[in-house]
Amino acid sequence: MQKEPVRCFIGLGSNLNSPLEQVSQAIEEIASLPGCDLTTSSSLYKSAPIGPQDQPDFINAVVEIYTTLDPHSLLDQLQSLEQQHQRIRERHWGPRTLDLDLLLYGNSIIQTERLTVPHAFMQERSFVLYPLAEISPELQIPGGEQLSSLLVACPMGSLVKI
Ligand code: AMP
Repeated sequence: MQKEPVRCFIGLGSNLNSPLEQVSQAIEEIASLPGCDLTTSSSLYKSAPIGPQDQPDFINAVVEIYTTLDPHSLLDQLQSLEQQHQRIRERHWGPRTLDLDLLLYGNSIIQTERLTVPHAFMQERSFVLYPLAEISPELQIPGGEQLSSLLVACPMGSLVKI
């Protein structure tokens, strides 16, 4: 535990077992995590899958929280929520009941066995960047670019706000 709450962004995704409900419920569960205060949620978005196309579309969202948990404790909590949603993950890039990614942890740059922050692919994924911009348009990615510049280079593609 640390004293000052840190602003974090978490990406949510689901494409199995009523994805809308999975994501909506997960947002409520994140809000109830110990040491976490959920301040903003993006709209829900729909996106075509990356990788194998023979799977349903994804529902995505991004939330902002303030947390006193250290990064790995927060990851533990997020992974336990994934487990509670009985995450099914049969293949890489395949369908999943709930995927929770720690996108940003304050201004920290973290590279450990379990954790890469900023999240490895977030800077090129429309389903992360557009919901993130909805709730924090002025964001500067630690060690990276302005979010607004990333958006210019990343078309919405199949992403739609729902
Ligand atoms: P996936 O669910 O396929 O995105 O990957 C899960 C794995 O990614 C877990 O083993 C995590 O330890 C690891 N990981 C690395 N960085 C992150 C991050 N920023 N957020 C969530 N999981 C991460």
